Amino acid sequence: MEKAKISEVFSSVQGEGIYIGRKEIFVRFSGCNLNCVFCDTNHKRGKFYTIKELTQKINCHTDISGAKSKWLTLTGGEPLLWSDFLEELLPLLKKEYKVTLETNGTLPAKFKKIKNWVDLVALDFKLPSSTKEKSFWKEHQKFLKVVKNKIFVKAVITGRTDLQDVKKAVAIIFKINPKIPFILQPASAYKKFRDVPRIEKVLQFQEEALKSISDVRIIPQIHKFLRLK
Ligand code: SF4
Repeated sequence: MEKAKISEVFSSVQGEGIYIGRKEIFVRFSGCNLNCVFCDTNHKRGKFYTIKELTQKINCHTDISGAKSKWLTLTGGEPLLWSDFLEELLPLLKKEYKVTLETNGTLPAKFKKIKNWVDLVALDFKLPSSTKEKSFWKEHQKFLKVVKNKIFVKAVITGRTDLQDVKKAVAIIFKINPKIPFILQPASAYKKFRDVPRIEKVLQFQEEALKSISDVRIIPQIHKFLRLK
């Protein structure tokens, strides 16, 4: 694939998951195969980049001392929609960056093509009671089987998230590797979306998950508190 549609390239601190607060360069790919009710991404935005253009754009991102971050996060939308492009891009970046892939975990076959070039996967389990989408349990399970380690799983919790969905996610993690960290991320209010969960409910989910897996954390999106991208 010669070009990919990129929504933005920017430096910021990681706002989600187990490496929260780390300074990183983000490449946000345009487009997604899902339509989660809490989504805060504009999927139409973006312009097409060749591999050379995107590499140059990424390498321009230095801090005030002129140093480059060595952490690069591919986010979206869903970056794996552009897996053919990534197959060519990532070998060129591997020497300079540690690469994290943020994915909705629904396209395991596409991930296989690039898995050797990815250092960490931030895999979003899509709980149907949270997203108001169909379920993707089989796809999530296949994805976890391909990655196994160098991964954490995250699930967005809304006011309507069902305990049965959390149990199902925990059962999948337990089966593959009970040491995989599982992040419960309370949904943030965004535009018309206001269905944020009560903390008591999230704590109950954490207790339930800890019965089977060892590392379950409640972590909100901090970039929204800090008013960062
Ligand atoms: S998977 Fe992520 S980017 Fe895609 S619709 Fe859901 S929240 Fe938005």
